[in-house]
Amino acid sequence: MAMKDLADKLVALCMKRGIVFPSAEIYGGAAGFYDYGPVGVILKNRIREFWRSEFIVKRENIYETESSIILPRIVWEASGHVAGFTDVLVECKNCHLRLRADHLIQDTLNIVTEGKTLDELSDIINEHDVRCPNCKGELTSAQKFNLMFKTYVGATESSETEAFLRPETAQSMFLDFMRIQDAMRAKLPFGIAQMGRSYRNEISPRNFLFRLREFEHMEIEFFVHPDQKNDVPDELWNKVENLEVLALPMDLQEKEEPPIQCKGSELFEKGIFSCKWLLYWTLASFSWLVRVGLDPNRLRLRQHMLNERAHYAADCWDIEFQYSFGWKELQGIADRTDYDLKRHTEFSGKTLDFHLAEENIKVVPHVIEPSSGLERIIMALLETAYAEETWMDEKSEAQERTLFKFNSYIAPFQIAVFPLVSRDPLVERAREICTILKDNNFWNIYDAKSSIGRRYRRVDEVGVPFAITVDYQTLEDSTVTIRERDSMKQERYSIQDLVEYFKKQLQFG
Ligand code: ATP
Repeated sequence: MAMKDLADKLVALCMKRGIVFPSAEIYGGAAGFYDYGPVGVILKNRIREFWRSEFIVKRENIYETESSIILPRIVWEASGHVAGFTDVLVECKNCHLRLRADHLIQDTLNIVTEGKTLDELSDIINEHDVRCPNCKGELTSAQKFNLMFKTYVGATESSETEAFLRPETAQSMFLDFMRIQDAMRAKLPFGIAQMGRSYRNEISPRNFLFRLREFEHMEIEFFVHPDQKNDVPDELWNKVENLEVLALPMDLQEKEEPPIQCKGSELFEKGIFSCKWLLYWTLASFSWLVRVGLDPNRLRLRQHMLNERAHYAADCWDIEFQYSFGWKELQGIADRTDYDLKRHTEFSGKTLDFHLAEENIKVVPHVIEPSSGLERIIMALLETAYAEETWMDEKSEAQERTLFKFNSYIAPFQIAVFPLVSRDPLVERAREICTILKDNNFWNIYDAKSSIGRRYRRVDEVGVPFAITVDYQTLEDSTVTIRERDSMKQERYSIQDLVEYFKKQLQFG
């Protein structure tokens, strides 16, 4: 299927089935903002819960927080965002359309602009006479644009009341560092984790859920002793060292060579990753993404080039996904060193450090940060899970269906329940089964309208992994058929075994 077609089909299906649709749609929509419908909310929560299960519940030393979205200007001065959280834009002198300079150059000339200065970008635009895509007007020279949304707190608009919506959740985890380590009696290494909305006034939001102005971050700030950045405990390392990955370190990118395929451990042994904790978090994130349901062959690890690294990072790797519009960043894993804790100490006058009781000394920990955007994961998942199938049925009639092949533990609705016909006592039995399933916390969807075939098609389109049909045999022997979405195989099970059966099928993988 042509990639453009896939993108269009995904958008249409997401809108039709209540997964995601544009915010303020009846007013023409608001670029870069989307609302989640009932199915999308469950999908989102499912991914959140799987993240929480893997990175918080199953570990002893990662603590979850939830902090304010609006923070005063001083926080963002200390973090470097006021000065440096910018993209480069050009404006059309005629129609005043504003465009991201790097995207425009990439789209029109196919030149990669990572790390180029303002003057260099302006020169490329002038030399190639790049014009406004809207009206062919002349463009201004390139200028910086800060991506943070500004607001004022309280009734007075002044420099003292100026505040910003957070562009990342990370900063609060540095601000709360002393409180959390004290409250939890934390020992190094330990992590603080947060899921929550972030806001970036992107110049040109695009590619559906990929580049948004409001999105959800899932971030961990993992604090390690500065001299122990390679001390990953064996029980953690054993789980990731043998993962097969595609990796694109800086030198291969400089030589324009393809990625290498190797075992996770080789990336440390060969000195490709600067420290083991950075590699551990990259591999642990990769492994989790595969278990969410992403195709491992469409994931690769790419090191940031020196000129694209954030101001705080000593080393940074992206996990990239091969979206229908190319290889793009899905998640970043950065070695933020002690930059943030030291900057906030400097600006607030409050010491942010860690007391090592045994040695009776204080250290400022270094931070390894895996940071991902939930919508980019959802977008990658939708692209991976989408399928169209055609086949001949037993009467040699052509059949077709569209489906999402979500993992059973990520699928929004887990079980569909159908009475064969919409008549008692079948309806009554089907309703009873719904209640049993709901009482056991399974999300089910009841449908009694139209033919069974049509009902299967409808639930396939939201990726429901199992469908139960209550038929006349059910009334005789208390069994039902369970139809498995991908294979379409049907088997009979006793109603009393359903809960156990689904508990096994639907637990996090
Ligand atoms: P990009 O270079 O694509 O703008 P970034 O390097 O600025 O991304 P980070 O600051 O590293 O992104 O943020 C961490 C993660 O947050 C990204 O890997 C991505 O998953 C998500 N993210 C960042 N910006 C957006 C956005 N505008 N819309 C949706 N998700 C985003």
